Amino acid sequence: MTLQRPASVTDAFLQGLVARIPSTSGGTWKLTEVYTGEVLVELPQSTPADIERAFASARAAQHEWASWPLKKRLGVFKRAHKLFLDNAVTTTDLIQVESGKNRRMAIEESCDPPMVMSHYIKRAPHLLAPVKRGGPVPFLTTSTEIRQPKGVVGVIAPWNFPFATGLSDAITALIAGNGVVLKPDNKTALSPLYGIQMLEDAGLPKGLFQVVCGEGPDVGPTLIDNANYVMFTGSTATGRVIGERAGRNLIGCCLELGGKNPMIVLEDADMEETVQGAVFGVFGNTGQICMHIERIYLPESRYDEFKSRFTAAAEALNVGATYDFGPEMGSLVSPDHKERVQSHVDDAVAKGATVVTGGKARPDLGPAFFEPTILEGVTKDMLAGSTETFGPVVGLHRYRTVDEAVELANDTEYGLNASVWGGDLKRAEDVARRIQSGNVNINDILATAFASKGTPSGGVKQSGVGARHGDQGLTKYTDVQNLAVLKKQVMGARPGQDYDEYVKGMLSGLRMMRKTRIR
Ligand code: NAD
Repeated sequence: MTLQRPASVTDAFLQGLVARIPSTSGGTWKLTEVYTGEVLVELPQSTPADIERAFASARAAQHEWASWPLKKRLGVFKRAHKLFLDNAVTTTDLIQVESGKNRRMAIEESCDPPMVMSHYIKRAPHLLAPVKRGGPVPFLTTSTEIRQPKGVVGVIAPWNFPFATGLSDAITALIAGNGVVLKPDNKTALSPLYGIQMLEDAGLPKGLFQVVCGEGPDVGPTLIDNANYVMFTGSTATGRVIGERAGRNLIGCCLELGGKNPMIVLEDADMEETVQGAVFGVFGNTGQICMHIERIYLPESRYDEFKSRFTAAAEALNVGATYDFGPEMGSLVSPDHKERVQSHVDDAVAKGATVVTGGKARPDLGPAFFEPTILEGVTKDMLAGSTETFGPVVGLHRYRTVDEAVELANDTEYGLNASVWGGDLKRAEDVARRIQSGNVNINDILATAFASKGTPSGGVKQSGVGARHGDQGLTKYTDVQNLAVLKKQVMGARPGQDYDEYVKGMLSGLRMMRKTRIR
């Protein structure tokens, strides 16, 4: 049976979307439908000169945008919030054709930018308002903390959540008064392009939010050299390259990188919920979520029970290539990525691991499908034991004591996300606090942490620098101006004043200030 593409994905629609990508002589890249491998559209590629022009246009529009009262800026996002939800089905169609994920996950992804807008529409007036503080001399001095936009922010996004990572961080930068130049992954440029169209339909000034396309190493240097700040989401290896260049340019950057996320099951965990959680944690988005689970630690007493129920659940998963809500798991993003996942499994097996279930590609379903895979006996000398696989593959491990479980969970260079399951919440929390990870979810995999937009979410160790969400998710896109006012000149010795007298006065003034309640 031939696969029917979603009705919204017409050639005219796609041509309209890619028309905004600047490309004078960069050629094109074949963007394909993942389920079939057929070309969807020739994606224009941007040259360094195109990228420089994109920054110039964004910068010109940004001066005007930053001068708008915040209330007027936020009005754009209030309208956009409605448009994003009204058009969630079209967004979902685009996310699915370009990424190959299942529809259940694609519709969830379409909701992230509206959630971020909703949070910062309420929070930004507080975060961006000037804060007046007392200066060094009570009553006679003031110092005001003023938040100013950085200018034009370069956003580099990966393919696994192209709509969420391409837009949500950009929207926050825009709310703070910046312009944005986004570089999505070539494979998944369509859904972010559609998001920008919706933002402009909601009143975002044209030119303020630019998109440039190309392979990372071709586009990256010019993008970073022209940006006032870089927001990067992607692998740890690329994060190092980005961070190095940003450092040389003395601009700030936020790096949201990879993980090798552990799940610890405690003795008193509810087994049904735990298995259900693990199924999402390991196989959700076909294992291509930065916060997904690749290592599960189980107490001896519950290992066999978990293994048999989890294996049965994995084998019962509906895996398939359809544009309806049926499949519980979709495709990997590309045949190349499928090869990488296969190589991790093959390497593990060659070094002594055993396959409990799965372990192979599913060419009968599509060019990049891979079976839900559970391994035992994975050790740190295997690729799957030490580096991020980023596919539907997990290793099961036994532990004897909780201390050992914590030690094993922390035995990694990554620290993005962790998940602890237990009936006694206090005990589970005690375990969670001991895990070196930017996010830890109790009795959940990742959604509780990631959807808590008021709390910063980022990685520690080799999983990142900085965070998205929370107050710092917005303020990182601003510079602080310390605007200080001296109402009457009282600092320093007065003309003709004896210096010993002045020093005595100054020191007693400092003693007094220590005691006053004025801050
Ligand atoms: P990647 O690092 O290969 O690519 C990410 C983006 O960077 C792409 O747009 C790519 O074109 C670009 N890029 C590549 N090399 C570049 C260079 N030299 N200069 C500038 N840009 C460059 O990562 P990926 O394989 O596309 O994405 C998967 C990775 O992203 C996984 O490691 C995953 O864990 C991580 N990720 C992290 C988060 C998070 O929030 N921590 C979220 C999603 C994905």
